Amino acid sequence: MSIKLTIDGKELEARPGATILQTARDYGIYIPTLCDNPALEPYGGCRLCLVEVEGMPKPTTSCTTPVTEGMKVKTVTPTVERLRKTVIELLLSDHPNDCMICERAGDCKLQEFAYFYGLRENRFYGKRRQYTKQDENPFLERNMDKCILCGLCVRVCNEVQGVGAIDIAYRGFDAKVCPSFEKDLDCEFCGQCVSVCPTGALSGRIWAKKGRTINVKEVETTCSYCGCGCQLNLHVRGNEIARVSSKPDNHNEGWLCVKGRFGYEFINSPDRLKTPLIKKDGKFTEATWDEAISYIAARFKKIVEDHSTDALAGLSSARCTNEENFLFQKFMRAVIGTNNVDHCARL
Ligand code: SF4
Ligand code: SF4
Ligand code: SF4
Repeated sequence: MSIKLTIDGKELEARPGATILQTARDYGIYIPTLCDNPALEPYGGCRLCLVEVEGMPKPTTSCTTPVTEGMKVKTVTPTVERLRKTVIELLLSDHPNDCMICERAGDCKLQEFAYFYGLRENRFYGKRRQYTKQDENPFLERNMDKCILCGLCVRVCNEVQGVGAIDIAYRGFDAKVCPSFEKDLDCEFCGQCVSVCPTGALSGRIWAKKGRTINVKEVETTCSYCGCGCQLNLHVRGNEIARVSSKPDNHNEGWLCVKGRFGYEFINSPDRLKTPLIKKDGKFTEATWDEAISYIAARFKKIVEDHSTDALAGLSSARCTNEENFLFQKFMRAVIGTNNVDHCARL
């Protein structure tokens, strides 16, 4: 049974157990957030999603408040707008405001809200956090000066990846995201934490200075590393990949492994094979595709003539698509005439 409520004067029906934020999103009503991600448990940390609810003495976080029958919610009032603006001011008061040289400029939620609220001056002066220690790991750049302690990285590592490599250590002004005992990060390097970070605090090490959102065009493709076939968005600048991301509405829900997210440098590698090679007198020599295919066809024919079709076998790869694998087995069975077909991912 649905729950009836009004949000901003609109009469709506919500799913039982849904929060105000989820219901607002279901109806396309925008509520700003910094610490929310629909794939993760509600957190209520950033206080940006505050709304006013009739009968409640003070504004409440819409991400953690379930809807109730007859509830009357206002998402935009002078009080919540003043509170939201103050939250952003407080975050900026302890932030390097490095937008000019930051990898995430143009794709940063903190910058976006500062722009929206027209914030330039800082009225909260005081100590700022400065972290100089850098990890030695080859994948993740962690710039904790830009961390707003939204906890998204910690939660995604725990709730989605099931690793728990990082947490928020210390409390109050000293609170910071780090691995246990502040050691260097040593984890699966899936980059899930990078993908949910709303600021430039987390980034890919190989992404540095390759191009920001405004400089790249996104090209959708399928990861070729394994049979999961995760959907990738290649951020391309010129003829080079600047970084890789994935969207939450894909079958892999936007999550990738270290290979899919960071293992793309082979594409522009100068060591990459560009033409077929045929071994002649023990040495590989460059050949055209026509030469290579004719050579293979002639060898197949000779083997079949000398030993029968079952002297040939085909081993396919999980790096190919389903369609390619289908065609491959069809070729082996219908053209070559053998059922000797196998696949590296069968077991
Ligand atoms: S994290 Fe965002 S607000 Fe901070 S310096 Fe980078 S772009 Fe600017
Ligand atoms: S890279 Fe993956 S495993 Fe490592 S901290 Fe981030 S989410 Fe956790
Ligand atoms: S590193 Fe990014 S995701 Fe993690 S708490 Fe800081 S701002 Fe949030």
